[in-house]
Amino acid sequence: MKYVDVILPLPLYGCFTYGIPNEMLGKLKIGIRVIVPFGKSKTYIAIAAHIHDNKPTEYKIKNIIRIIDESPVLLDNQLKLWEWLADYYISPIGDVYKAALPTGMKTQDGYKPKTETYITLTKQFRNERSLHDAFNILARATQQQKALVTFLEMSHWDSLDGDECRESTVEITKEELINESHCTTAIINNIITRNILVTYEKEVGRLNKGIEPHLDKIKKLNTYQQEAYNSILFNFLKKDVCLLHGVTSSGKTEIYIHLIEQELQKKKQVLYLLPEIALTVQIMERLQRVFGNRLGIYHSKYSDAERVEIWKKQLSDNPYDVILGARSAIFLPIKNLGMVIIDEEHETSFKQQDPAPRYNARNAAIVLAKMYGAKTLLGTATPSLESYYNAIKGKYGLVELNTRYKDIALPEIDVVDIKDLQHRKMMTGPFSPKLIFNIKRALNNDEQVILFQNRRGFAPMVECKECGWVPHCTNCDVSLTMHKTTNQLTCHYCGYTYQIPTVCPNCGGTELRGRGYGTEKIEDYVKEVFPEARLARMDLDTTRTRSAYERIISDFSMGRTNLLIGTQMISKGLDFDKVSVVGILNADSMLNYPDFRAYEHSFMMMAQVSGRAGRKGKRGLVILQTKSPDTPVISQVVSNNYKDFFYGQLEERKTFHYPPYYRLIYVYLKHRNDNVAETAGIEMASRLRQMFGSRVLGPDRPAVAKVKAMNIRKIVLKLELQINIKKVRECLHFAQLQMMEDSRYSSLQIYFDVDPL
Ligand code: ADP
Ligand code: ZN
Ligand code: ZN
Repeated sequence: MKYVDVILPLPLYGCFTYGIPNEMLGKLKIGIRVIVPFGKSKTYIAIAAHIHDNKPTEYKIKNIIRIIDESPVLLDNQLKLWEWLADYYISPIGDVYKAALPTGMKTQDGYKPKTETYITLTKQFRNERSLHDAFNILARATQQQKALVTFLEMSHWDSLDGDECRESTVEITKEELINESHCTTAIINNIITRNILVTYEKEVGRLNKGIEPHLDKIKKLNTYQQEAYNSILFNFLKKDVCLLHGVTSSGKTEIYIHLIEQELQKKKQVLYLLPEIALTVQIMERLQRVFGNRLGIYHSKYSDAERVEIWKKQLSDNPYDVILGARSAIFLPIKNLGMVIIDEEHETSFKQQDPAPRYNARNAAIVLAKMYGAKTLLGTATPSLESYYNAIKGKYGLVELNTRYKDIALPEIDVVDIKDLQHRKMMTGPFSPKLIFNIKRALNNDEQVILFQNRRGFAPMVECKECGWVPHCTNCDVSLTMHKTTNQLTCHYCGYTYQIPTVCPNCGGTELRGRGYGTEKIEDYVKEVFPEARLARMDLDTTRTRSAYERIISDFSMGRTNLLIGTQMISKGLDFDKVSVVGILNADSMLNYPDFRAYEHSFMMMAQVSGRAGRKGKRGLVILQTKSPDTPVISQVVSNNYKDFFYGQLEERKTFHYPPYYRLIYVYLKHRNDNVAETAGIEMASRLRQMFGSRVLGPDRPAVAKVKAMNIRKIVLKLELQINIKKVRECLHFAQLQMMEDSRYSSLQIYFDVDPL
């Protein structure tokens, strides 16, 4: 008998083996979906991963029940990528499966093809003579006669002489007939009841047909861009990965378009990754102009059914040649990958935090490209420390582009000390006088303004005015955020909402006040201070749907709105023409974040937000409000001195044993009971110390030590770069299994975060 190892959509490490009934042998191939029994009575859709002759001895073998596909839904390299992800990120391969496939492909009746209702003549009326009879039947129903005539004209049945001839007829939908004949549905239904017309359902795709490509619409590169382009190609002769470090608005996107065009000439496909769905809207329009219907978009805001159809299209003979997407696009089947472009490569949202697999799509895409012998281009104005380090060490190629397209100067950045102004009572809510002055001037001049505040909701914290009591989430170790639109308190960790208490449970006081500024509160202040502004807000709360994203961005692009308030979402590569003022309302919350990457993240965030200012024709102004104007990172942002920032950080990373000099792996332990979490943390750490010695730090309580009623402990591993990472992963997995065998820890969760961000 032959056996097949399958991947189940369950959080399981490794594959499960099933027998292949003889009659299925010829049809089963790797990458095909099969239905298998699992546990007492369940069945799942699993993926065939290996076919072999080795009968497992540990458990009684069951057979697969049914084969779903005729041909594989996963190509070899997709399966290899899954295996790499599971291995590298020490994550169950079942979790990779769950992350990779659209729901409609992994549940037993998840995907329904979209159909439309068509209408045609019933068989017996498909010739001249019986059609005559049909009109006799309808003799007294003039409306129905009229509808039938319209049908015959539209479908070309009227031009038939003699007997049935199907070739020349046109299929029409019931809806088209209703529109064209100006008849009601009831009238059409009457003809159907009389058995003269009949309806049938037909599958239609959900995907946009799109326009033909217009490769002639590619913009000519200027000299700097052309040099960078040549230099990228030159680097690709020797290296698999190249970093394009180009200031904001230097025209990196145009260079990508030229590179894509070149790949298409070679009949290769390109994967273009962006960190943020908001960004795909703008880039999509630019790419569509050139690549038309050869471009496909893929991300989580598309409906699941659409994603299934894109997946199937990529397996067909007519796949999209260019896929633009967010991180999940790395899972799409690709037949002939020639290049991967990763725009805004520094962005932390390429990393999936929760749930598993906790993978970095940028790094995974580099691995994927290598499997195809394809090249990877990383592009950004603010390279991640890791990528820039790889570039200066010669592992990646490095291409710099220091001039903005058309030589528009980089924005002027003015630092405003809000601590001092607060002291002198000169702030109007979140606004300094200088910011107010410049916003007013911009709005008067018909220019646009972007205000950046990295907290959503109304007030990040509320407290009792009398006693200072602060409401916390019952499930998580965090204070609640006040939301004004819903008039509720919300936990940003578990999503749970609470009514705002009318009485303080601590002192009986009746007045709660909000502290700090969320984007909703900024919105209120804008309405008050700049009543003339046409404002929009872009944060998680206003962009739940794809159309909401598109509307906010297109309204601002078209000038229907002129003041945009937003969280980090607005920092990511959006390109607007008329933004003359950018306000960073409070830089300190980022700077004071307790993480070794706080400076790196702050620098990038501020540099990127600033880059939104002053695009066409005019130098922009950035007002950077902070309570700590003397922090070095602030002056590095002001002087746009990436190298200064980079080498400063590198020094610290070296001293304190952080990446890129050391590898980090975090080990998390979670349990409902805090005592169990505590003892498990201590025990796991001591097991790890036996193997890794002083490379193990902790266990510690993380900054947020309880989330969704689970108490958390964190152990940190700092590993030298030379260490055998494969061995390390094996040891970690082994320690995890040993812990799980202890009955005290039966409901303990242990997971790893490899290369955490
Ligand atoms: P980046 O991706 O580096 O931020 P973009 O590619 O968005 O820069 O370019 C900034 C602006 O300049 C865009 O509006 C773009 O259309 C324009 N642009 C860049 N290069 C060219 C070119 N070669 N010809 C015409 N317009 C260009
Ligand atoms: Zn109180
Ligand atoms: Zn919570």
